[in-house]
Amino acid sequence: ESEVPSCIARKVSQYSCQRKTTLNNYNKKFTDAFEIMAENYEFKENEIFCLEFLRAASLLKYLPFPVTRMKDIQGLPCIGDQVRDVIEEIIEEGESSRVKEVLNDERYKAFKQFTSVFGVGVKTSEKWYRMGLRTVEELKADKTLKLSKMQKAGFLYYEDLVSCVSKAEADAVTLIVKNTVSTFLPDALVTITGGFRRGKKMGHDIDFLITNPGPREDDELLHKVVDLWKKQGLLLYCDIIESTFVEEQLPSRKVDAMDNFQKCFTILKLYQPGVDNSSYNTSKKSDMAEIKDWKAIRVDLVITPFEQYAYALLGWTGSREFGRDLRRYASHERKMILDNHGLYDRRKRIFLKAGSEEEIFAHLGLDYVEPWERNA
Ligand code: ATP
Ligand code: MN
Ligand code: MN
Repeated sequence: ESEVPSCIARKVSQYSCQRKTTLNNYNKKFTDAFEIMAENYEFKENEIFCLEFLRAASLLKYLPFPVTRMKDIQGLPCIGDQVRDVIEEIIEEGESSRVKEVLNDERYKAFKQFTSVFGVGVKTSEKWYRMGLRTVEELKADKTLKLSKMQKAGFLYYEDLVSCVSKAEADAVTLIVKNTVSTFLPDALVTITGGFRRGKKMGHDIDFLITNPGPREDDELLHKVVDLWKKQGLLLYCDIIESTFVEEQLPSRKVDAMDNFQKCFTILKLYQPGVDNSSYNTSKKSDMAEIKDWKAIRVDLVITPFEQYAYALLGWTGSREFGRDLRRYASHERKMILDNHGLYDRRKRIFLKAGSEEEIFAHLGLDYVEPWERNA
């Protein structure tokens, strides 16, 4: 019935940038399991095994049918032995004992909680775990922990930040960002990127790319924007990273390239239209607890020179897996180096200019993949 004919299986690319992956996932049962395995390996800083499971998850998200027999995955790329074992157990038993072990693992459970705090990564989690800490409640109660400004904000707004951002909230924040930017640079382009550009209905943050068509960008723009929000009482946290871009520098060859654009990681106060405090203000306010009529939302702002905008847009739209495979494809299949700033052809020794994402795919000899098909 639904067996992949081997002629089709052989055609499936190992690179997710040569596949169209929508949000319509027929194999969530498997991909959720793989993502737990990958996360556990990330916590153990085992990048190879982590990537093995992430790549397998991407592949199964792409398959246009649910996997029900081992035959269904015959001949497909990205399925290593570990992955095959997990698939086999889920097919036969309905669940994987290895995944269950991970979910019950003390270290995994603690790291999962710690890394859910904004500003806390694997390194910090490792330190706190060794100190015997296990839960977010224990972290909050421990007044001796030395916290960064970012982590302090992470604990202060913890409940809001772990509850995901909805599409409606993303739309509301988009209006705020566009309005504020246009008061300083009326011609600036503001584009939502990240998961929301790929059509996701939920996200952990909202990502925006800003560029100014014309001679050059304004180094002061991000500062002006956050200063205004501060004045309006909307800014709960902000960390501006200044640009470190050097002209003529070869693109970064790292797999997970952080770029050199000026950017700003913020937490904004978004007033919730549904909650109304006004009636309380008129009556006996003193003995009424204030109702919180806002939600803390993580917002990333990135500003790029106009010539690099297409590359930045491609990089910031993700998914992370899709971007990783684009860069891997460029270097392994085309002898080119791709990052969020540009594309360098090592044979011709030139940077390839692009005014749109379509042109970048064309430079790489790839069929164009729409943003909503990049959910690898
Ligand atoms: P989510 O819904 O969880 O936010 P997302 O796909 O939007 O999912 P993000 O972590 O917001 O995930 O990242 C969006 C894209 O931007 C990813 O493809 C990632 O590679 C890229 N990205 C994130 N942070 C940086 C950074 N500091 N430098 C360069 N690129 C980044
Ligand atoms: Mn995002
Ligand atoms: Mn982000």
